[in-house]
Amino acid sequence: MGVQQMFKNHVFALGFESYSEYLFSCLWRSKSDQMINIKKVCELCGNNKSLQVHHKTYENVGNEKQRDLQVLCRSCHEEVHK
Ligand SMILES: [Zn+2]
Ligand SMILES: [Zn+2]
Repeated sequence: MGVQQMFKNHVFALGFESYSEYLFSCLWRSKSDQMINIKKVCELCGNNKSLQVHHKTYENVGNEKQRDLQVLCRSCHEEVHK
């Protein structure tokens, strides 16, 4: 089973139709806000503007551990997805 399929299953199990629906959910927003509040700056460049939360692994989507996530600014986030 591919990674894509694996995280889709996690997301479906939580009652979301898709990964993007999950990313728009209050559940994910409160989780990512919490991460941003803890880290406060981009973990790669130290920027504190336009922070986003990146999944280092999709293994625990919906039940992410702090170590599964990384706080990145928008430009670093775009870089890691290149
Ligand atoms: Zn950055
Ligand atoms: Zn990402």
